[in-house]
Amino acid sequence: MVTLPKIEKGIKRTEQEVLKCRKCNLSKTRNNPVFGEGSFDAKVMFIGEAPGKNEDRQGRPFVGKAGIILDELLQTITLERNQVYITNIIKCRPPKNRNPSAKEIKTCTPYLDQQITRIQPLVIATLGNFATTYILEKFGFQKEKIGDIHGKIFYIKKLDFNTMLVPLYHPATAIYNPNKKSVLIEDFKSISKALKKS
Ligand code: URA
Repeated sequence: MVTLPKIEKGIKRTEQEVLKCRKCNLSKTRNNPVFGEGSFDAKVMFIGEAPGKNEDRQGRPFVGKAGIILDELLQTITLERNQVYITNIIKCRPPKNRNPSAKEIKTCTPYLDQQITRIQPLVIATLGNFATTYILEKFGFQKEKIGDIHGKIFYIKKLDFNTMLVPLYHPATAIYNPNKKSVLIEDFKSISKALKKS
């Protein structure tokens, strides 16, 4: 059993590494790395894509429009931000919000891997294609499109603790497409279902 102070110490150590990370060129254009935040005891970890403009300014994940939607979605399953853990596959903003490159993902994801193994969430909820693809590949699932698997529950067997994956559309898709919001609301129920199964 890993104690909370031990998890906190490990997470803080990784955070310090990220704050001074210069492993890729994104460190030259970022204002602030966005490590992630939330409960060290979280049962649910959300993994988004990359910081946007607001996140880069504030050094916090999901604080812009997509973050407002994420907060609303959390409320639908009676979870507060401070009960979950929120991070991204890459920790620095790509210029003009371009997609993260394969090389950037490869360079940055060891930090995410440490967050996962330290927090040991019961549910990993991936937000959008990039995070979903990374987690599917990492845990030996076949590659699938988010459109085909959103809201499903996958059992991850490759870790020495029990965890489930729930792939979700990225909340930003609901900014311009209200239909996606109702799909997201429905899919968020899978997080509650997964928690009940655990
Ligand atoms: N989109 C993301 O994927 N992550 C953030 O932190 C903000 C917007």
